[in-house]
Amino acid sequence: MARIGFIGLGNMGGGMAANLAKHGHDVSAFDLSADALDRAKAAGCVPVASAAEACDGADAVVTMLPAGRHVETVYADSVFAAAPQSALLIDCSTIDVATAKRVAESAAANGFAMVDAPVSGGIAAANAGTLTFMVGGADDAFARAQPYLAQMGKAVIHAGASGAGQSAKICNNMVLGAEMIATCEAFLLADKLGLDPQKFFEIASVSSGQSWSLTSYAPWPGVGPETPADRDYQGGFATALMLKDLKLAMEAAASVDADTPMGARAAELYQRFADAGNGALDFSAIVRLLDGKRTA
Ligand code: NAD
Repeated sequence: MARIGFIGLGNMGGGMAANLAKHGHDVSAFDLSADALDRAKAAGCVPVASAAEACDGADAVVTMLPAGRHVETVYADSVFAAAPQSALLIDCSTIDVATAKRVAESAAANGFAMVDAPVSGGIAAANAGTLTFMVGGADDAFARAQPYLAQMGKAVIHAGASGAGQSAKICNNMVLGAEMIATCEAFLLADKLGLDPQKFFEIASVSSGQSWSLTSYAPWPGVGPETPADRDYQGGFATALMLKDLKLAMEAAASVDADTPMGARAAELYQRFADAGNGALDFSAIVRLLDGKRTA
C-alpha cells in the first residue's frame, strides 16, 4: 500500500480520497475547508494542516482543485518543494490545456513524473469509484498512475502526451453541451407538434438521433431512466460546471484556430442561462431557456 497526498477534498475529491483510503492506502488529505477535512477524516483519511504536509514522504500526490490557477499555485508553492522526487504527481482537476502543459513542464524541470488525469462522471461516480479517467503523460508515468486511478474509476484511458487528458475532457464536454441543447430542442419541438415525448424518446433511442443525453440523461421529466429532470433539475452536473468546460473548450479552440460554431453557440446559451441565476441547476435544465414560456 502507498502513502498518498490528496489535495482538494471538495464534491469530487472527497469521494476519490475516501476510495483510495478504502483500498488501504495511507492518505494524507488537505483542503482549505475545515468541513472537508472533517469529512475526509470520517472517511478514513488523515487530515493534515497544509498541502506541503500532505506531500511529505508521498509515493503519489493527487490534486482535485477548481481551476488552472489553483493547480499552478499549489504545485509551485507546495508540491514541487515538499514531495520527494520519487513521487508521482497526478492532477485530476479539469483545467485549461495550456496550464496543464505548463505545470507538466515545471514538474519535469523539477525532476517529477506527472500526468493530467481529468475525469468524466459526477459526484455520485466519484463516491462510487466509477469515474472515467482520461490521462495525458509519458508511457511510464501512465503505467504508474493506472493502478491508483483504477481504484477510483471504472475506466482509465491513456489519451497521449501531457495535456492530452485535458484536451479529451473538453472535447467530450463540448459534444455533451451541444448534444444536450439539441436534445432539448427536439423534445420541445416534438411536444409542440403534438408528439408524445415518451414516444419520441422510445423512437429516437433506437434511431439515429440516439445519444447519451437522450437515452441516459433525458432532459424531459417522466421520460427514460430517472434523471435530474425528474427532480426539478436539482443535483446532477451543474450548469456552472458545463459553462466552465465550454469556456475551456472555446479558449483551446481559439489557441489552435479551430472552428467550433456549435460549441460556441452552446457556450453562449449556457452563459445566458447561468447569468439568469441558474448556475446551480443541472445542465439539462437549459430546456427552460429554450422554451420561452418557461424561461427562469
Ligand atoms: P469543489 O469546489 O467542490 O472542490 C474543490 C476543493 O478544492 C474545495 O474543497 C476547495 O476548498 C479546495 N481548494 C481550493 N483551493 C485549494 C488550495 N489552495 N489548497 C487546498 N484545497 C483547495 O469542486 P469539485 O466539484 O470537487 O470539482 C473539482 C474539479 O473537478 C474541478 O476542476 C471540476 O471542474 C472537476 N469536475 C467536477 C465534476 C462535478 O460533477 N462536480 C465532474 C467532473 C469534473
